[in-house]
Amino acid sequence: MVVSGCNWKEKLNVFYSGPLMSDRNYFLLREHLVESDRLILFCNNKIVVQGENFIWRYEQLIENLPANTEYLIVEHKDKHFVAASTDQDISIKLAAELKSLRSLLFKESDKDFAIAGKASQILDWYRAHKFCGACGAATVQHISQRALCCPSCNDQYFPRINPCAIVLVTKGREVLLARSARFRSGFFSCLAGFIEVGESAEETVLREVKEESGLIVHNIRYIKSQSWPFPSQLMLGFHADYKSGEIVPEPGEIDEAAFYDIDDMPVVPSPKISVAGELIEIYANQVRNGLI
Ligand SMILES: [Zn+2]
Repeated sequence: MVVSGCNWKEKLNVFYSGPLMSDRNYFLLREHLVESDRLILFCNNKIVVQGENFIWRYEQLIENLPANTEYLIVEHKDKHFVAASTDQDISIKLAAELKSLRSLLFKESDKDFAIAGKASQILDWYRAHKFCGACGAATVQHISQRALCCPSCNDQYFPRINPCAIVLVTKGREVLLARSARFRSGFFSCLAGFIEVGESAEETVLREVKEESGLIVHNIRYIKSQSWPFPSQLMLGFHADYKSGEIVPEPGEIDEAAFYDIDDMPVVPSPKISVAGELIEIYANQVRNGLI
């Protein structure tokens, strides 16, 4: 959006040094699209998929995109894609269908899903920051960064992620697995929770394990992380050893929790999909290889 008659340009000329969006930056207009662009299209917050493909060529879409479509650049491993969003459902015109992002999780490769997840998170951020959270003024686009800025109070809004800690608790050959009371999918998985203000990730692990299972753990060590776009989360994966306590599932949070031998586990998430599955697989392989 182009704003005129405000003193924000003078105050923030470091951010806005010329006509907005005159060049290709993070925010595009339709006329900035070029034939080599690859687009990921969302209609009403659902991704437009044809068969198994959700990355569209410019010429496949351009004639059908509504005038109010918004375009944001999404980088992924040195490549640029364009996340496009409209509130009009044009899937039928494209001989395609609308799908939830989550439904792609079980079909697409890690690489493809990561692009779709990032596009979805950036569009979610953009939708949620059209107005300043401090003073309510309409925000404007930063000319060179992926940021929305308030012309009234100068606040800036960058895409944010919410850090979570996820932990595999183990006791010898056994792993602690729990079934969430909120997702009745039948999956058992590791314990996890949001990192609260003022906490380190290790403190979150201690607190969440105690709250959700009643157990005390020690030897907490970081293993690996995963971006998880439901919504913008960063899952920090940990391993911890059981120290003491009896399992008492937290009412309303955990339906069932128990230690399972690595060769006698219920259905757990695939390591191809989630860091929980990876944590379990890494440990199970270490035990099977005699490393534990
Ligand atoms: Zn403001």
